[in-house]
Amino acid sequence: MKAVLLDRDGVINALVYHHDAGVIDTPFTRSQFKLLPRVPEAIRLLNDVGLRVMIVSNQPGIAKGHLKPNLLRTFERIMLSDIRAAGGHLDGIYYCLHHPDAKVPKLRQCCRCRKPEIGLPVN
Ligand SMILES: [Zn+2]
Repeated sequence: MKAVLLDRDGVINALVYHHDAGVIDTPFTRSQFKLLPRVPEAIRLLNDVGLRVMIVSNQPGIAKGHLKPNLLRTFERIMLSDIRAAGGHLDGIYYCLHHPDAKVPKLRQCCRCRKPEIGLPVN
């Protein structure tokens, strides 16, 4: 089985400039989450040629206290809805939620699932 593994931020959705921190990073709010142009159609084309399409992404925003846990799922729903509207689908979404400097204790760890490590569990 052939597959394409895509990152999320900057590949599927636009990165955001956060003025307060002076950094370009993942979206922190619902209104900041926007798919990049033609991403849903591109994923559909990958589906059409028989490739599995999966997102593999480090998402330490919750660990760092930048976003609430439910917002990650909200972003996911938006992404899936837009992809579905274009006739495409994803075969998997896999996140590492950890970060060595996390504010959330249970997510503060040097894990094996954070890219570029290879330990992210894929079913
Ligand atoms: Zn991890």
